[in-house]
Amino acid sequence: MKTTGYRQLCCGLAAYFCLTFSLCAQKVSVGLFFDMPVKTATFAVQSGSYAIIVDDTLLIAAVDRGAAMLLSSSGSGVRLRISGESMGTFSSVKAVGMGDEGLFSITCLNPLQPTLSYAQHAFIRSAKDGSGLLIVNQLDERFYLSGVVEAETGCAAKPEFFKAQAILSRTYLYAHFNRHGKDGFNLCDGVHCQAYKGLLTRCRRIRAAVNETEGTIVIDGEKRPITPSFHANCGGQTCHSENVWREKLPYLRSVRDEHCTYEQGARWQKRIALSEWRDYMSRSGIRVKTPRQLEFEQPLRKKYYEVNGKKVELTKIRHRFGLRSTFFDVGLAGGDVLLTGRGYGHGVGLCQEGAIQMAERGWGCEKILRHYYKNTSIINFNKARSTQAMQQDSMLFLFNPWRNELPDTTTFVDDVVARDSVEVQE
Ligand SMILES: [Zn+2]
Ligand SMILES: [Zn+2]
Repeated sequence: MKTTGYRQLCCGLAAYFCLTFSLCAQKVSVGLFFDMPVKTATFAVQSGSYAIIVDDTLLIAAVDRGAAMLLSSSGSGVRLRISGESMGTFSSVKAVGMGDEGLFSITCLNPLQPTLSYAQHAFIRSAKDGSGLLIVNQLDERFYLSGVVEAETGCAAKPEFFKAQAILSRTYLYAHFNRHGKDGFNLCDGVHCQAYKGLLTRCRRIRAAVNETEGTIVIDGEKRPITPSFHANCGGQTCHSENVWREKLPYLRSVRDEHCTYEQGARWQKRIALSEWRDYMSRSGIRVKTPRQLEFEQPLRKKYYEVNGKKVELTKIRHRFGLRSTFFDVGLAGGDVLLTGRGYGHGVGLCQEGAIQMAERGWGCEKILRHYYKNTSIINFNKARSTQAMQQDSMLFLFNPWRNELPDTTTFVDDVVARDSVEVQE
């Protein structure tokens, strides 16, 4: 029993320091494969040692590298097999990395998906709608952010670019911390929240960028985390938010960008049959007597394609014809319409290829962010929330993502492992 007392003392002290000095790592629970019904998946330990807990009872105290579990959906439960042997059906299965460490892989077998690696812990239960398994990866915020940044950027750029991207991903995380609270986790791993594909190659530069910017986020004039939109290449000029979405945001203003114009995504061309273009425009209210009237120039970004005083939103045209951007001119070539375009993506917020070049040319991450997001401040949220002034600042405090703990996935894991480990040892 001494062990239990000692562990409780340690846990108590750790909790005290967490609350007082924000020293401990904040955890994030990510719903994996959230947009697909997972019927069967395998969990395999890649490094470290894992405790397997079923229905909040310790099943195995330590499974090591190479051990694999087969998990399948069974009505309202999870059927578990280990090394071919059936362990039973449970309402939840938890794989807890001991010492808060460990790396594991998940392979979805039905539907078949590539194997992905994840850090720390996995919780599996039946999805609420009974469509399959809900697999949740609970991990330190820093590991999550490293995964998100790598999914968005790859690993080949200068540190200041990765820092800018880490600050944006953290800003999104803090602003949407409980987006999936009703589903039993914080964020999903799809583009609905932020794309997260586990740890991929575990890029060292990205990990450093996440650590060096710890707690840093971008807030607007009303001290709210910004909507941190970004895109691949702006083609030389970014877009006002209201030209792409309905909302006019004071920090998502159109800015010039000479840094991206020689990069991969800067230029494109597309031919479209004249009849197809003309038919679409005719249905949209633009009727012409001669094809030449369809020509259109956009030296600076416009919101509409405009002919003879009639106009169509460029975003609609982009969507209809699957164009890389809305920043294009329209000419004629042979029997076709020839679109000559600039940029790749919606064009709002940070231009990734521009930011990569800025970092190459010695710009710091804050200067890069201030270029693309106007009227904003870059703050350290951890420091800000510990000061009296900020705690009383209702707007910022409202967004404190740690005010509400998630009851389902984050509780009692340590307690169960501590309790049952001691019982097993005795
Ligand atoms: Zn989501
Ligand atoms: Zn750009």
